[in-house]
This record gives sequence, structure tokens and C-alpha cells, in this order.
Amino acid sequence: MLFTDPEIGIKKTVDPTAGALGGNRLPKPPPGRYAGSRVFSWLLRLDAERAFTVSLLDKLQRRLGRFAIPHLTLAILSLQVPVYVISLFQPQVLEPIRLVPSLVLQGEFWRLFTFVAVPPEVNIILAYLHFNMFYFMGTILEAQWGTFRYNVFMLVGYVATVAASFLAPELPASNAFLLLSVLLAFAYRYPEFVVNLYFLFPMRVKWIAMLAWGVFAWMMYVGDWNLRLSIGASVLNFFLFFGREILHRMRWSARQMELRRRELVQQNQPRHQCRICGKTEQSHPRMIFRYCSKCAGNPCYCEEHIYDHEHIEEVSV
Ligand SMILES: [Zn+2]
Ligand SMILES: [Zn+2]
Repeated sequence: MLFTDPEIGIKKTVDPTAGALGGNRLPKPPPGRYAGSRVFSWLLRLDAERAFTVSLLDKLQRRLGRFAIPHLTLAILSLQVPVYVISLFQPQVLEPIRLVPSLVLQGEFWRLFTFVAVPPEVNIILAYLHFNMFYFMGTILEAQWGTFRYNVFMLVGYVATVAASFLAPELPASNAFLLLSVLLAFAYRYPEFVVNLYFLFPMRVKWIAMLAWGVFAWMMYVGDWNLRLSIGASVLNFFLFFGREILHRMRWSARQMELRRRELVQQNQPRHQCRICGKTEQSHPRMIFRYCSKCAGNPCYCEEHIYDHEHIEEVSV
């Protein structure tokens, strides 16, 4: 009766906000008179939500896509590598380009941008490894996501790091978020990829990422609020890009575990159980169980009760 109602029929065809017509707004669910309508409307909402987050980046891309910097990884490296080489001979070259918020507030605004060029201050082998990994993983992520998405990912890390650094204005901020967030995103996408540390130790990238997460967790626990915020800033982009997917996976695996649990419970349930006394093939392994064909529904009985029970009458409809 519901779908022959002329009023609803007209509403359905003329409503321009209906999801099937491509709008992002929620279609009005029909009045919930049939079973499962709440589930139905919940599913619609879930789908609209997903469409929104995908289309937000797409919309931004249409407007701002032309400002995206292609080969961003290479661009950053073309700043860091020369600065690293110079700093080997002139370590003081790094001082004026670091991000020290208190000095930015005194007018040294270039520091907001130049700190991206500060290379990792480690020995040559580690620095080479750093540059190599950053180049390799960054280019792959850019190829997978497209230039614009990759730019947004890095920009979120940059803005969050700069914002967090102003909470401890005297300390120079680190640009470790560059390699870190690329490493975490890469390891999430390609966990089985093998990296040759020092060209000697092959290591799956997921273990490196696990190690990084472990160190973060430990620093979050023992560190002060400045440290916590700067760590939070360098992983914010990771959670913005992957959080929804991770939540989805967690829900899915929780459901799988629940299904598995039910399966196991069912496996342990007896297959034969006497309707009268409740004996099962588990409690009485030697007993033979039989099913009465004269009872309605053919219930199960033990050896004794198969001949000694009142038959269940068929319930007439
Ligand atoms: Zn029995
Ligand atoms: Zn019977």
C-alpha cells in the first residue's frame, strides 16, 4: 500500500535532493512503515558522509589544483641536500634558517618557510638514507595520490607543526614531520615493502613504522605537553587521511571476531539433544539418538524416550 500511495509517489519523483540524482543532501527516507527502514536510512547517511569527504578534496582540487607544486619531494630535497653539504663545512649556516617562533615574532618571518630546508643533522650515511627514503616514498605516494592530494597531506603537516611550535616559542621546531608522515603513510599503504637499512639489514617498512609508533607512544607518555603537541602535529595528517579507513577496518575486524566467536560457540553446541531429558551426544557419547517421525517437527529423543513419549500434535493453522 505504501508505494501505491499517490502522494508519496509524486514526492519521490520530484524531490531534487534525492541521492540518486547526484546531490549530497540526504534523501528523505519514506515513512518507516516497513521493517528495516531505520537500517536503510542509516546506510544512506553513511554513504552520503563518504561522498562528502571524497568530494571535499575533489572540490578543493578543482579550485586550487593549479597551485599544487609537482614533484614536491624533489623540490624539498633540492633545498635540503645543498644545505646539508654546506653545513658539513659551515655548521652555523643552519642557525638563521631554523624555525624559532620567538625570533619570527621579532620580525624574522623567513624562518617560517626556510626551516623546511633544514636537513637532518646526522652523519653522511644516515643523511643519505634519510634523503633516499624520503625521495623514494614521497614520489610513490605522489604518483598514487596525485600531486594535489600529496600537497594537501604535506601542507597539513606543515601548518600543524608551525602552529604547535608557537606553544614553545624559545625552542627551534623540527621538520621531522616531512619524512615521518611520508614514512607512516607509505608503510600503511605498502606494509610488506622491504627497505635495506645501511644496505645490510633488510627490514619490512611496517616494522620501521611500528617502531616509530612505539617511540611516539612512549614520548607521549613521558614527554611534556610541548613534545606531545609536536608529535601530534606530525601525525595529524596521517589520521586525517587514514583515520576513517582505520576505523572502518577496526569495526570490520571486530565484526569478524564476533562472527568467529559465534561459530566456535555453535561448534561446541551438541548436535543431538533429547527433548525430554536433555541428554546429548556430548554428555552420553555411547547413547544413540533418534528422531521421531510421528512428532510435529521431528524432534530428537534418546534411546529411552524415543519409545516413551507423547507425540507432539501438528498445530492446525
Ligand atoms: Zn531422554
Ligand atoms: Zn513422537
